[in-house]
Amino acid sequence: MSYYNITINAKQVSLNFSASDPEKNSGTDGVQIASLAEAEIRNLLREKYTPYKITNLRLADAYQLTNLDYRTNKAVRLATCARWLEFALPPLGDDKRYKLVKTSSCHVRLCPVCQWRRSLNTFRNLAQVYDRLNQEYKHIFLTLTLPNVSAAELSAELSRYSDGFVKMLRRKPFADIVKGYTRALEITYNPGRKNFHPHLHAILSVPRSYGKKVYISQEKFLQEWEDITGWVPSEHKNVHLQVNVKAIKSVDGKSIAELAKYSVKPGDYIRPTLAETAEIIEELDPAVDNRRFLSYGGVAKRAKRELFQEKNLEDIEADTIGPEWEEWERKVYEWHFSSESYREITV
Ligand SMILES: [Zn+2]
Repeated sequence: MSYYNITINAKQVSLNFSASDPEKNSGTDGVQIASLAEAEIRNLLREKYTPYKITNLRLADAYQLTNLDYRTNKAVRLATCARWLEFALPPLGDDKRYKLVKTSSCHVRLCPVCQWRRSLNTFRNLAQVYDRLNQEYKHIFLTLTLPNVSAAELSAELSRYSDGFVKMLRRKPFADIVKGYTRALEITYNPGRKNFHPHLHAILSVPRSYGKKVYISQEKFLQEWEDITGWVPSEHKNVHLQVNVKAIKSVDGKSIAELAKYSVKPGDYIRPTLAETAEIIEELDPAVDNRRFLSYGGVAKRAKRELFQEKNLEDIEADTIGPEWEEWERKVYEWHFSSESYREITV
């Protein structure tokens, strides 16, 4: 459909950003709702898309205040994100869920709308991957940390985590015992100290015999992590790095949620003032741009490939409904900048 190929110039976007209507329209007033699916969609728009879209536009404004070369490009991409949402609704009496058919995603790493959607998709995908792997493997939940770093050090530090993790798994005894993994990078920001705390969570698949003859101690994990990262406790007042290791019988929703969490919580960088937000993202964005926050290896990578084949796991939600949705009624909602709400449009 033509409305996905839209172009907006930066001037128009910035005008749209600053427009705000004190009389906000909830988008549902006086509208006859015909079905449960439609009521659910309106609820989704009100509870999720609308607040995320509002913060997405604050972020777009903040990008314009940064000195990043690509600030306008990102601001425009953010502004177009989730401007349209097209849903397919099951016929009345059919208890299937509605399906989001099309939307415009900006793929800006820090976009609150994209982060939320990516997190939902990751959760759903990992649930399927580990539903399969739980039958054959035991698992270890691992968290690796290093001390907080300044903005200037953040990018190199994130590489240190992802490279160090892979390096560790290539060493013995890890290489013999760990059959696969999913790992996620996460960053928290400390506004008081103005520094960043990256860390890495991973689920490691190990043989079912793990814990009897085969075992890797917490000390071994710590020792290797310190060795790989070059951390010498005696040079740091005998401070050891934090390594958390937990054997789990089967991977449950709680462990998956840890990996499917936002890479960086929007509340950490979308601050009360645009100036503060701009200051943080000017440092944060170059470090997270084009970086792989979630990655799979070994049996987890294979399971993911077999389950999802060519699907882009971070894109539009994986199909959970059969092809019948193609015949369903469509509803399209458009974001109104002036009233800060979604409204149904007829197509
Ligand atoms: Zn987005």
